Order: sequence, then C-alpha cells, then structure tokens
Amino acid sequence: MNTFLKLINRKDQNFQHWYSEVVFSAKLIEHYDISGLYILRPSAVEIWETLQAFFDSEIKKMNVENCYFPMFVLDSHLKKEEAHNSGFKQEVAWVTKSGQSDLEAHLALRPSSETIMYPYYSKWIRGHRDLPLKLNQWCNAVRWVVGDPTPFIRSREFLWQEGHGAFATEDEAHAEALEILELYRRIYEEYLAVPVIKGTKSEMETFGGAIYTNTVEAFIPNTGCGIQGATTHCLGQKFAEKFEVKFEDKKGEKAMVWQNSWGYSTRTIGAMVMVHGDDKGLVLPPKVASTQVIVIPVPYKDVDTQGIYDTCKATVNMLCEAKIRAELDSRDSYSPEKKYSEWEMKGVPLRIEIRPMDLENKQVCVVRRDNGAKIHIANADLVEEIRKFLNNIQQNMFDVAKQKRDECIQVIHTWEEFKEALNQRKMILAPWCDEKDVELDVKRKTENEMGPAKTLCSPFDQPELPEGTKCFKSGKPAKKWTYWGRSY
Ligand code: AMP
Repeated sequence: MNTFLKLINRKDQNFQHWYSEVVFSAKLIEHYDISGLYILRPSAVEIWETLQAFFDSEIKKMNVENCYFPMFVLDSHLKKEEAHNSGFKQEVAWVTKSGQSDLEAHLALRPSSETIMYPYYSKWIRGHRDLPLKLNQWCNAVRWVVGDPTPFIRSREFLWQEGHGAFATEDEAHAEALEILELYRRIYEEYLAVPVIKGTKSEMETFGGAIYTNTVEAFIPNTGCGIQGATTHCLGQKFAEKFEVKFEDKKGEKAMVWQNSWGYSTRTIGAMVMVHGDDKGLVLPPKVASTQVIVIPVPYKDVDTQGIYDTCKATVNMLCEAKIRAELDSRDSYSPEKKYSEWEMKGVPLRIEIRPMDLENKQVCVVRRDNGAKIHIANADLVEEIRKFLNNIQQNMFDVAKQKRDECIQVIHTWEEFKEALNQRKMILAPWCDEKDVELDVKRKTENEMGPAKTLCSPFDQPELPEGTKCFKSGKPAKKWTYWGRSY
C-alpha cells in the first residue's frame, strides 16, 4: 500500500519509454486495444477543456460561430481538390459496410473537413453580405497514421477544433490566419508554458490544397525533434474554385471567396508533457492544473491529529474561496510520502504539508513541483503567497523551457555544420535557397530510425541575411533563414 509511485524510465536516457510511462502513470492516457487510439482520462480532458474555454471565448470575440458537420465524407468530395486529397490519401480511414452489406458509396472518416463543409459554403454564400462566414467546430478527426503513433502527439483519432473562414478579400484571409496563429502562440506560451516559434511552412510541408501554412513550432530538447504545434492555412481560392464558393460583390460582379482553415489538437497536451515532465512524472503549469494545490496532513505520533486535519480542511476552504484550485488528500491509509509521490506524478504545482510543528508556529510548509523548493509560509499570508507562487511557477516553467530551447538553436552555414548540428540534436537555423529539391535531398541524406530531417518553419522574425549569403546545401543565393530538424 505504501510503496511510492516511481517511473522506471529516465527522461534523459530513454525518452520514448519515459514519455509513454508518464502519460500512463499520471493517468492522462489509458491504452486502448486498437493501436494508435487512446482513452483520454479525466485529467487529460480537464487540460483540454481549459484550453478550449480560452480559445472558444477568444474566437467568439472575432465573431467565429460554432457549428457541427457530419464526420463522414464521400470519396467524390474528398477527391475534388487534388493536392488536398493526395496530402491525406495514405491516412484516410473508410467505412465500407453496414452490417453485412457493402455500402454503395464508401465513406471516409473526416481527416479534416474542408471537403465536407465547403459544398454548404457554396450553398449559403450568395452575396457580399453573407461574408465573412466564420465557422468552427470542436470535434474529432481520424488520420490512420502509418508510422509509429505517439499518444497525443500523433494518434489515429484526436480531438481538435477546426476553423473555416470565407472572406470577400485576400487581405481579410491573411489577417485572420495571423490573428488565429497568435491565439495558438498564447495557448502554448501563456497556458502550457511551452515556447514556440511562429513561421511559415516550406512548400513541401504546406497543408494539401493551401497556398501557405503558418505554424507555431515547439521543440523537444531531449530528442532534438520539432513539433508542429498548430497551424493556420490560407487556402486562397483553390477550394472556392472546386466547390464553387462564389458571391456577388458590391459592384454586382461574381467573385470567388478567399478561404482559411486552422486547427490545434490534443497534441498540445503531449508537447506540454514532453517539455516539462521529469523523472518524478508530470509537471503541470498552474494555469492548466485542475488541482493547483494539494494539501497533505502529516500527523506525528498522535500529536493533535484532529487539529492537523481541521487545519488542512480550513486551509483548503480558504484557498478555494480565493478561487485557488485546492484539494485535501485525507486518505488515512496512505503514508504522507506515498501521497507526495502520487501528486508529484500527477504534476500538481504546489503541495502544502501541515505538521504538529506548523500548527504551533501558525504556518504551513509549501513544496514546489517545478523546482522542489520548500518554503514555510505564515498562515496570515497564505492566500497572497500561494497566488504569488502559482504566478511565479507559471513564469518560471516558461523561462526554463525557453532557455533550454534557445540553447538548442544553432546557426549553421554549411552542409558539414548541418550534419554535425543534427547529430547533436539541435534546432538548426540555416540560410536556404527555398527550393523543394534541396529539402528533398536533405531528407534523403538524413533518413534514420528517427525519421529524416526537414524544414520546421521559416520564422516570421527573420535574422538579417547579408547580401551574398549562400544556401547551406545548394550554394545558391539564400532567400531566407529557415529552421530545420527532425520532427514528430
Ligand atoms: P492540420 O490542419 O493538418 O495542419 O492539423 C492541425 C493541427 O493538428 C496540426 O498542426 C497538428 O498540431 C495537429 N495534428 C495533426 N495530425 C495529428 C495527429 N495525427 N494527432 C494529433 N494531432 C495532430
């Protein structure tokens, strides 16, 4: 009963196993008996709901409305936009039967809903007064990932939101793509304390059917892999042409709409676990922790045990009244040490321990999950101090993660330097000629069991590119700085 909850794997020795063990032991995930599909347990859904509440209220301020479309799509619709179709072809799951009978038309499960929604955009949009049309849905998507699935990061079914905007003008579409990307940055940096880089994807990495894709890219120092955190795609007028999404403009002339689609998924949770987790388990940023403070009675030799329990209860009540999410662990069949290890595994940001000595001194002992620091706080200052701690932990987690990420960034100029930096698991910033063949060549030459290196993004925030700078691989004139690395 009193054995401590411990991880077998170490983050810096065996990252993949460590990650699987953490998401399971922290009760975020339960394994399902179909590979690549996972059960999200309440602690994972609570994090998702916090992100959802933030994002949903922000997009409503932008006049985006929520809707729901069916998850099945006809083959003929899915194929209508060729680049889109070939982007997803390998990962589409199909329903081909109902009971014993073959279905006349096979139905795909949505990998994304452009081809499900836009026939109705065509029906609903007639004149310029019907624009902009800005819809979002909170749902699941199914992509039958071919390689190794990873919980949250790359699963065969995942939760996400997908937003779909239609506009009269190109400028409005570009503006929305940036505005949503900023919300994605805020999800990662302000809520999950995970630093990201905003940028555009290369031609090869652009969403099928889009004219460009914006991304927020996270990076995992332990593996040297980038994570495409969330994306906004400007679809231009490509889908509008295929699905005839036309409108009569102010001059009475027929015009095509400009469209965007954008999405973030439960991958966010995986990135947070990978960045902050440690050898004791999950480390949750206070903003997304459903329990921010766990209060644990530490009785000693029957000295005023009742007094300890009463004080613990009073402490929890006081914190909850101040809107701090506090909980009491009153299980008396568990030793305090076992409780510590359990709550550490779950990543609760602060632990309060109350002993007989603390009653006497009118204080509590507070332990931080992020750095293990132990501090005594006078009861009189409790609420104020806990609030400060939670803010400080949120900021500290971001600062530490950013410093680690920044230490991984390496600027290179030659192919030799590139290969060396890749071996050292760096996030490589290189001058590039922006040619697809070069990216293909790099992919071919770097393929190993971790996958090939590829472009992560060309950052919006471009360092100066002096005249005459050459592409690290082709030697042609470089057009921009681009991040490269392996990627999940
Ligand atoms: P997309 O519209 O394809 O760019 O997808 C939107 C976002 O969903 C991506 O930026 C990823 O962060 C996330 N995503 C894509 N595929 C998966 C997957 N198989 N599992 C979890 N999240 C995913």
